[in-house]
Amino acid sequence: MRDLTHEILELIRRTSSDLPKDVEERLKAAVEKETPGSAARGALETILKNVELSRKNSSPICQDTGTPIFYVKYPAGWSTLQLKKQIRAALADATKRSYMRPNSVDAVSDKNTGNNLGGDDFPYIHFEEIEGDELTIELMLKGGGCENVGAQYSMPDNRLGAGRDLAGVRKAVLDAVHKAQGQGCAPGILGVAIGGDHGSGYIKSKEVLYDKIGARNPDPKLAALEEQLTREANEMGIGPMGFGGKTTVIDTKIIGLSRVPASYFVTVSYMCWAYRRRKMTVRGEEVIYD
Ligand code: SF4
Repeated sequence: MRDLTHEILELIRRTSSDLPKDVEERLKAAVEKETPGSAARGALETILKNVELSRKNSSPICQDTGTPIFYVKYPAGWSTLQLKKQIRAALADATKRSYMRPNSVDAVSDKNTGNNLGGDDFPYIHFEEIEGDELTIELMLKGGGCENVGAQYSMPDNRLGAGRDLAGVRKAVLDAVHKAQGQGCAPGILGVAIGGDHGSGYIKSKEVLYDKIGARNPDPKLAALEEQLTREANEMGIGPMGFGGKTTVIDTKIIGLSRVPASYFVTVSYMCWAYRRRKMTVRGEEVIYD
């Protein structure tokens, strides 16, 4: 089987040191909406300058290089055992080269492993066998600050007056945005899962964050709610880094899951402005990076 360690190292470098084009464009557009001379505009301008420098120097765009989450979709014939070894080797190498901060701390002993390799759960790797002959590896670096403000609601939520319907989902998501203010490094991107269980809700609310900015759910009701939530979150006036302003959220993505009749969860994963996600595709001998 082909050794992709070097190519995965490059995927990590690109993910950590640069923002995807669609995210950067949305942040640039947000600058124009903020008042000249305001703290909000200043924060966005600093973020964009910082991204430019990091891209040039191959240095992390944020000091917290986050939790590495990999999604590997592979055709028949690849060994997940070998791919896992290659991903782990690439991550340790990326840490040595300072593309990544040593970020894996044993929760019991409090020791940092120094190489971003924890137990089986760090980095987190999802594998899925697919039809066809292309292998894809997607990587997300999920910052700790924004992970801390993720939230899950078991509906109905009497405190919010929110029921088991899309109106209730709206109230829960806006409550999560309200509670996150001043933390989580806005402007953020909201990943929302409706249904599932405690575990699948969080997994799927992160998976939707791999989609492009502006990509809408095919269900028109959910697509409309995505746009409404982005608009209403921005009307709260929390603004970049909580300084006040018009840009609190740059996009919202919703996924509807199955649920058992007894449960109705709304799960919100909050992604900070350092929305680091990249993809590599192996097509024959060629490796393409998005
Ligand atoms: S939440 Fe995001 S931007 Fe803020 S410190 Fe963490 S990784 Fe950096």
